[in-house]
Amino acid sequence: MTLRSELSPPPFSVDAEGWVRRARHFPSPNYGSRSRAGSPPTLVVIHSISLPPGQFGGRAVEDLFTNRLDPSAHPSFESLRDLRVSAHFLIRREGTLTQFVSTDACAWHAGVSQWDGRQGCNDFSLGVELEGTDHTPFTEAQYGTLGALFEGLCARYPIQAITGHSDVAPGRKTDPGPHFDWVRWEESGYPVQLLRPKKARSG
Ligand SMILES: [Zn+2]
Repeated sequence: MTLRSELSPPPFSVDAEGWVRRARHFPSPNYGSRSRAGSPPTLVVIHSISLPPGQFGGRAVEDLFTNRLDPSAHPSFESLRDLRVSAHFLIRREGTLTQFVSTDACAWHAGVSQWDGRQGCNDFSLGVELEGTDHTPFTEAQYGTLGALFEGLCARYPIQAITGHSDVAPGRKTDPGPHFDWVRWEESGYPVQLLRPKKARSG
């Protein structure tokens, strides 16, 4: 299986301001300047998210990333009160792409994290959320959109690696979980380093 398939849309190109024109846009105030890091993004971090956990659809993820989530709307939302987080992209179960933060800015997706000896992955990474859970396979449409997005990001930035949130924040984060198909990236032919979960590597 390759990264791209006949289900994949054409590559998502990134415009001069760091926005994918073909994505839906929900601009988030939760971002920082990339100039502090002094370099373009070299890492793509894959996450999974669903709000409430395990429920797909709705607007809660968009609300969370734009600081509009109503903490009283669901018992699980109380712990998210006053959280200031974001990701660059969200890919819904049906493959829809939403963008929250320019790729030229730092989204607040990785938290305390480390990759290749560097702390604070937000400074030098792009965060992509897949709507899902640690316990559910992702959809073909999501892989199709992710592949097309990845192509556009690689065309714009010197991406060196793609990895999971659990790999840059081990012991603290578990997403995207064991169902994420790293083999697609291994077989994609992209000159990127893969940081696969240790279990998947040995099995
Ligand atoms: Zn995550």
